[in-house]
Amino acid sequence: MKTLMGKGDAKVNTFIDSMRASSPTRAENQDQVPTWIFYNPSALKMFEEIVYNSRGKQIVTFLDYDGTLSPIVSDPDKAFMTEKMRATLKDIAMHFPTAIVSGRSVDKVYNFVQLTELYYAGSHGMDIRGPTKSRSHKKINEGVLFQAASQFLPMINEVYKILVEKTKSVQGAMVESNKFCLSVHFRCVDEKNWAALAEKVRLVLNEYPKLRITQGRKVLEIRPSIKWDKGKALDFVLESLGYNNSNNVFPIYIGDDRTDEDAFKVLSSRSQGVGILVSQIPKETNASYTLQDPSEVEQFLHRLVEWRRKSSHSHKLYVVDNFKKLTLP
Ligand SMILES: [Mg+2]
Repeated sequence: MKTLMGKGDAKVNTFIDSMRASSPTRAENQDQVPTWIFYNPSALKMFEEIVYNSRGKQIVTFLDYDGTLSPIVSDPDKAFMTEKMRATLKDIAMHFPTAIVSGRSVDKVYNFVQLTELYYAGSHGMDIRGPTKSRSHKKINEGVLFQAASQFLPMINEVYKILVEKTKSVQGAMVESNKFCLSVHFRCVDEKNWAALAEKVRLVLNEYPKLRITQGRKVLEIRPSIKWDKGKALDFVLESLGYNNSNNVFPIYIGDDRTDEDAFKVLSSRSQGVGILVSQIPKETNASYTLQDPSEVEQFLHRLVEWRRKSSHSHKLYVVDNFKKLTLP
């Protein structure tokens, strides 16, 4: 078998190895936590430091959806947020400009989140919508700001149909259309069939050099090979908010996936704001801090809201005090 190994097989094996590494199921991986914590401390423990560094700047929050706001579940259609998370997210959006950045289509992620006051960057940032006043779901289309890959839509739809057909023999395999990109889910596939499934995907994609495959948590993502990713989406949203080339902004980006690393990289290269990786296991990352799971993300966001409420309250008192000093004899 080994002699037959071509470049493609090596690629498939790399996918499988790194997919196993990024989706561990064994408890012993938890033992490695101490060194990792040293390099990427908990954003909850370092909360005071984070808000101190944001002083005088506008915080803008960027949040991935799956695995960050919602738990990772076997059926991607059932990745619901808790009610607590929804309430906190609503509060966050009241105090800070907020964007959801997801691999999913805008429509899908909007259906989960249902908050019109947010920015949505779907399909790995290739489809960006601004906040809309309307509460009607249909009206979300009004907010289109940018679609980086619209010319790829017919090709993506074609590949979707082929992949559905070619992968239906693999039990548990699921192909999801995310409008400008596709996800092939391995979560419900027996690990011994992962290589076969990855190989099927690779063979289909060989015919489409304009599309590329990246790997996430038990998922292969297929998207146009244009230079556009979650990092570019972050740039774009900041620019739409008027913060391009500005030092008065402090973006906080929270995500759990390899695709979120592009955004972490943008922040670290600008030395601006903070990247927070959601993970229970040690990972190589460009993020500065970590949170263990969506419930810790909720706690962090909740503290951010409380901190802002307190600081704007004390700011008001200060203003009132000064006003009294100015007007009273
Ligand atoms: Mg995610």
